[in-house]
Amino acid sequence: MISAETRLCCVIGDPIKHTLSPLMHNAAFEYLGLEFIYVAFRVKADMLKKAVDGMRAFNIKGMNVTIPHKVRVMEYLDVIDEVAREIGAVNTIVNDDGVLKGFNTDGEGALKALKEGGGDPKEKKIVILGAGGAARAVSYFIAREGPSDMVIINRTVEKAVRLARCISEKIGLEVRAKRLTVQNLKDELEDAEILINCTSVGMTPNINETLVPKGLLRGDMIVMDIVYNPVETRLLREAKERGCLTIDGVGMLVYQGAIAFEMWTGVRAPVDVMREVIIKALRGRRL
Ligand code: NAP
Repeated sequence: MISAETRLCCVIGDPIKHTLSPLMHNAAFEYLGLEFIYVAFRVKADMLKKAVDGMRAFNIKGMNVTIPHKVRVMEYLDVIDEVAREIGAVNTIVNDDGVLKGFNTDGEGALKALKEGGGDPKEKKIVILGAGGAARAVSYFIAREGPSDMVIINRTVEKAVRLARCISEKIGLEVRAKRLTVQNLKDELEDAEILINCTSVGMTPNINETLVPKGLLRGDMIVMDIVYNPVETRLLREAKERGCLTIDGVGMLVYQGAIAFEMWTGVRAPVDVMREVIIKALRGRRL
């Protein structure tokens, strides 16, 4: 039931029609009987400031921010949480009695999913593939856990170097950077304990793509892919075939949403309900 008391949350981005966030959050609101609804708005780049002003005008309680607005939206907020500032991107806004506060829940969501899947990064050698927005958030959170070694491998090596330097400065952990080549993968995966794909390679419709030759995956390695569509990417399928423990991208998606949900509602998020609705939707999409 939508009433005059109903609080609104939303996601803004462009494109936005493939987002699963409304499904996930509305299922959670309904399950808990909370008077909240969540909708998606396609917001073009030149309308970003107006969209944030709209959040103030309509007293929208919560907003998720996705591509391409995660960096620029910071200009229009009142307060930026320290972690989001260090990562350099905001994916969640909380309207706290008219004060708009920006957070980044992607990295924490990824770390929760990794740990839940059996991968504790502390004192482990970690290989991160990618140096885009998601890789930034994930690397930052993993680095804070104190891995024994961490290397960021990216097609555009300059971006990997910049990200590694930035994390090294902020966390005080020496992070290495390498160009994406088969030889570099071979060298780094030889003794890696956790591999995390933070690139978009393997995502629908390019489901037959992977950056890692199957032969480089060792059975005692944990392999996580943050791509969630398909749930089982080629990388994860081949990792499973090699005997690796695998962690898909749904966990990160659910946890980054659950953390935001808890900030908006003050209520513990029903993560199992959220996960179920996401998996059902993803299965439906592939049929
Ligand atoms: P992004 O900022 O555009 O970064 C894309 C990354 O992928 C870059 O490192 C890019 O390398 C690399 N890449 C793309 N195509 C490649 C190719 N053909 N070969 C090698 N590298 C390639 O995107 P993002 O926001 O970080 O998102 C990355 C992926 O994470 C997307 O699939 C997204 O759906 C997923 N994601 C999942 C969650 C979740 O909750 N599970 C959350 C956020 C994002 P270059 O730098 O060389 O271009």
